[in-house]
Amino acid sequence: MAVQTVASVGAPAGAPASSPSSDTSADTSAASGVDLGSAAALSCRECGHRVALGPVFACEECFGPLEVAYELPAGDPEALRARIEAGPRSIWRYAPLLPVPADVADKPNLDPGFTRLIRADRLGAELGVRPGRLFVKDDSGNPTHSFKDRVVAIAVEAARAFGFTTLSCSSTGNLAGAVGAAAARAGLRSCVFIPHDLEQGKILMAAVYGGSVVGIEGTYDDVNRFCSELIGDPVGEGWGFTNVNLRPYYAEGSKTLAYEICEQLGWRLPDNLVIPVASGSQLTKIDKGLRELIALGLVEDRPYRIFGAQAQGCSPVSRAYKDGHEVVRPVRPDTIAKSLAIGNPADGPYVLDIARRTGGAVEDVDDAAVVEAIKQLARTEGVFAETAGGVTFGVLARLVADGRISPDETTVAINTGDGLKTLDAVAPTTGLAATIKPSLDAFRAAGLV
Ligand SMILES: *Cc1c(COP(=O)(O)O)cnc(C)c1O
Ligand SMILES: [Zn+2]
Repeated sequence: MAVQTVASVGAPAGAPASSPSSDTSADTSAASGVDLGSAAALSCRECGHRVALGPVFACEECFGPLEVAYELPAGDPEALRARIEAGPRSIWRYAPLLPVPADVADKPNLDPGFTRLIRADRLGAELGVRPGRLFVKDDSGNPTHSFKDRVVAIAVEAARAFGFTTLSCSSTGNLAGAVGAAAARAGLRSCVFIPHDLEQGKILMAAVYGGSVVGIEGTYDDVNRFCSELIGDPVGEGWGFTNVNLRPYYAEGSKTLAYEICEQLGWRLPDNLVIPVASGSQLTKIDKGLRELIALGLVEDRPYRIFGAQAQGCSPVSRAYKDGHEVVRPVRPDTIAKSLAIGNPADGPYVLDIARRTGGAVEDVDDAAVVEAIKQLARTEGVFAETAGGVTFGVLARLVADGRISPDETTVAINTGDGLKTLDAVAPTTGLAATIKPSLDAFRAAGLV
């Protein structure tokens, strides 16, 4: 069979798959029964070293992050495009490009994705973008109301393939809910870890599905460190941590945002994408997805720019970008955008690379601008974003205002979560216009008309 190694995006093409000598994945190659579709191996982003598919995330040679490498059938882009368009209205229409078995759509999962791409002319008019050029990709429409359903759906397939019985994660909030729901639907146990002081909406949303939600006294970075210890302990035996030992698979789910945006634009690349940055995984994999579409001939090969968005109170990547640094210095988060509050972002250096390579940038806005942007998006387009969305649209406004995004170019900004989970952000400045007796006189007296 003729194969094309699209995974080369980031790793040397055709590097021989070698077996790891000592780690637990040694016997989990495709040949030994792991069926994850066109996923062929894991390869190191730094040195290209390849290992068999397994629940591992760091390169044994250089400790670089591992990512999924594929063998995709070489073929006619028209046929692939037609096959995708005939597929389900969920991320599973892109199953041939994901590390999932071919029958994935038949299994119990949350079927996320294929969320709305909204033409945002009214917001565009306020910001100064020409009609028909600004779009909102609204991922609050996913089953648990954030983009995390995409990444978790892929991690669930990996968990099934590797025989895990408990699904877990370290989360800034939305991931915990997505894991709880996906585990419930898949019939897996779940136990998730979050900073104890998250918004009530995120805690309840995670707990209602019946798994255990554990609040850790510390920041997300403390939670994440704790989970890494748990993986090495007998207590964590049989546990799949979506964003730790299943991270290479989990991360691939974000590629579907790239695929959907291009398909919804009529199989075209946008000129600019504005994407929030927590660990940087989403932004990094959207770039990977775009490069795959180009390599497969599904979209025309032309330049695009990727912009990362952070909250000023947790902006280690934006700081490094502005200072011209290659390394990201960790910070202690202090922002209302709690879902983006990762002070030591694992994929930060890749975000810097991508912003610089594509001619984009990484920018930040303060909490007041976050609230303003949430209200502006709601007022102009009827989309109620959570604080992470406020960060993204606040950064978008700034980029347009200072000319880094041109009003004539096609720009897509992603709303990654739902405002109902972060009501506290808008509560002080939003509410009843009046409270009156049920009489016309009282209504007239209220002075609203
Ligand atoms: C997790 C999350 C992100 C981005 O996360 P990365 O770690 O950068 O992939 C963005 N928005 C929301 C609402 C999230 O929950
Ligand atoms: Zn390596």
